[in-house]
Amino acid sequence: MRKLCESPSLVELRLIANYLEHAGVKTAILNEHQGGNPGVPHWALSVWAELWISNEHQFEHARGLLQRYREEQQRSGGVDWVCAGCKETNPDNFEFCWQCGRPAHGAAI
Ligand SMILES: [Zn+2]
Repeated sequence: MRKLCESPSLVELRLIANYLEHAGVKTAILNEHQGGNPGVPHWALSVWAELWISNEHQFEHARGLLQRYREEQQRSGGVDWVCAGCKETNPDNFEFCWQCGRPAHGAAI
């Protein structure tokens, strides 16, 4: 067992774990149910959940996958795009250029 990463977001770790499992990497999430105090919801505790790789020999592979995952996340969220037609910068959530109406994706230059 070797720790790959940690996050305050259990949801994010579960997504990463899914991503790795799909690639054949065995993972385990620790601190998933933090604390022993029944009056405190787990999300209110400050202990971060940890993602561990079960097999040491898969660790480097897992690290590469994690990097790719993070790059994919960055690409799909919050990145402005530049119109191939008029070179205007558009927000990530615009499907068409606000200036000339050219579609954001799949448009040839
Ligand atoms: Zn445009």
